[in-house]
Amino acid sequence: MNLKGKTALVTGSTSGIGAACAMALAEQGATLMINGFGEAEAIAALQAELSAKSGAPVLHSDADLSDGAAVQALADRCLKELGGIDILVNNAGIQHVCPVEDFPIDMWRKMQAIMVDAPFLLCRAFVPGMKDRGWGRILATASAHGSVASPNKSSYIAAKHAVVGLMRALGVELAQTGITANAISPGYVWTPLVENQIPDTMRTRNMSRDQVINDVLLAAIPQRKFVMPDQVGAFVAFLCSDAASAITGANLAVDGGWTAQ
Ligand code: NAD
Repeated sequence: MNLKGKTALVTGSTSGIGAACAMALAEQGATLMINGFGEAEAIAALQAELSAKSGAPVLHSDADLSDGAAVQALADRCLKELGGIDILVNNAGIQHVCPVEDFPIDMWRKMQAIMVDAPFLLCRAFVPGMKDRGWGRILATASAHGSVASPNKSSYIAAKHAVVGLMRALGVELAQTGITANAISPGYVWTPLVENQIPDTMRTRNMSRDQVINDVLLAAIPQRKFVMPDQVGAFVAFLCSDAASAITGANLAVDGGWTAQ
């Protein structure tokens, strides 16, 4: 597997799963645009580490993917500065834990914008170039919550089901173009996204921190351990290889058995 000469955009790659996906693609030589928020120093260090692995400069965009105009500007920048994107990893996502009757409408919309609208807009922008080149890989970090549910996560679960549907639709629509489209659905991965939801889960379920970790998070997973970000990264790199060219339109679980139950 060698992705030298391929360009890749990984959204939400300044942290967690996205950073691990960017690292795995850099190890295969892909030229990267990373995206997401964070301290300037930490992002510069990540860019330097990725660049040392890929042997190519690594660009960063802090485009806020909840804003459609910013998503379009990011796409335009990729087209202008990288000549297009061969590998699109729609990874950025946020969580909000709240009973449906209290769920803030703005938060519902923001989550749908980041996790459904932005992937659609980025696919729309990059598919023409992928078709011209006869090769492309479109991926979305969905979730076990793209096929099963838990309480108090209505917007997240709706968005993840939707992005699984988008990947499925594009897998079929683009089947004869050399482009594959797949959803990867991790179980719980120990990242800031999971850690930050613990206080709200403690409050809404009246549980201690240890109870949330053991009786809610790990209890969902038959392997009783968190998925590691680099396990998702390695899988993304595999799905970008020629060996994976027949895998398309799929929702692929990396969840320690969660959705097999
Ligand atoms: P994380 O919080 O560690 O990273 C999220 C990334 O998205 C960061 O780089 C952040 O800056 C970026 N981001 C957040 N809001 C953004 C916005 N408006 N515009 C642009 N970038 C934004 O989270 P993570 O756990 O690595 O999650 C990555 C993806 O994996 C998400 O889509 C998440 O839903 C999914 N996922 C996570 C888990 C898990 O257990 N951690 C499980 C299944 C799926």
